[in-house]
Amino acid sequence: MIKVEKLNKSFGDLHVLKDIDLKVNESDVVCLIGSSGSGKSTLLRCLNFLEKKDNGKIIINGEEITQATHDINEVRQKVGMVFQHFQLFPHKTVIENIMEAPLMVKKMKKDQAASEARVLLEKVGLSDKADVYPNKLSGGQKQRVAIARALAMKPEIMLFDEPTSALDPELVGEVLATMKELAVEGMTMVVVTHEMQFAREVADWIVYMNEGRIVERGHPDDFFTNPQEERTKEFLKTTQ
Ligand code: ADP
Ligand code: MG
Repeated sequence: MIKVEKLNKSFGDLHVLKDIDLKVNESDVVCLIGSSGSGKSTLLRCLNFLEKKDNGKIIINGEEITQATHDINEVRQKVGMVFQHFQLFPHKTVIENIMEAPLMVKKMKKDQAASEARVLLEKVGLSDKADVYPNKLSGGQKQRVAIARALAMKPEIMLFDEPTSALDPELVGEVLATMKELAVEGMTMVVVTHEMQFAREVADWIVYMNEGRIVERGHPDDFFTNPQEERTKEFLKTTQ
C-alpha cells in the first residue's frame, strides 16, 4: 500500500531522513519508534506531502506520487493524519469539525456530511458531544474527535504522530482503544508512538529509527525480545 524507496530529506544542512526504505502492506499497523529528533515526524509528513522530499520514491497503491504527475491534495485525502496536538477548529462544534473537510474538499451535501459525522462520533464514543465546542472536551475526547475528523475523508491510510503524548496518563487508554479498534477493522496505519505496550499488542511491524535512518525492523515478538542491533537494545532500555 505504501512503498518508500531511498527517501532523503534535509532542512538546510541538516540531513534528517537518510535513504529511508519502508513498505507497508494493506491492513498493516506499523509502529515507528525512536528517540526525539530521529526524523519520525518528518517521515510521516513526507508520506502525507506536508513536507517535500528531496529525493527518493513514494509509491502509494502501486503509483509513484510526484508533484508533477499528481494532485497532491487528492493524494492527501487518501492519507489521513492525526497529530499530537489535535488541531481542532476551536470556533467550530465537534460535529462541524468533522463535517468541515467533506463539505469543503469533497463538496458533500450538508445532510450527508452530518449523518456520516454522526456515525463516526458513535464509533469514537462521543455521540453526546456533537454540538459542544472543543474547549469543553478532555484531551482524550479531543483526540478522538481528531481521529473521527480524519476518518471523515475515508482515507485508505491513517498516520498518527504521537497521538497520546500530550494527554494526561489517565486519558491515554481511551485513545489507544479507539486506534486499536481501527486496526482490528483493517485500517492501514503508521503510528509514531512511545506506547510500547500498544506497539507490542497492535503492531504487525515495529520500525526503529535513529538519526534519520531505519536501524531495525521486526515483528513485535522478535523485536522486543530479541533485538539485533546495539542501538536498538540501548533504546529499548530507555523505554522500560
Ligand atoms: P522526531 O519526530 O523523531 O522527534 P523530527 O522529524 O521532528 O523528529 O525532527 C528531526 C530533525 O529535523 C530534528 O533535528 C528537527 O529539529 C529537525 N526539523 C524538523 N522539522 C524541521 C523544519 N521544518 N525545519 C528545520 N528543521 C526541522
Ligand atoms: Mg516527532
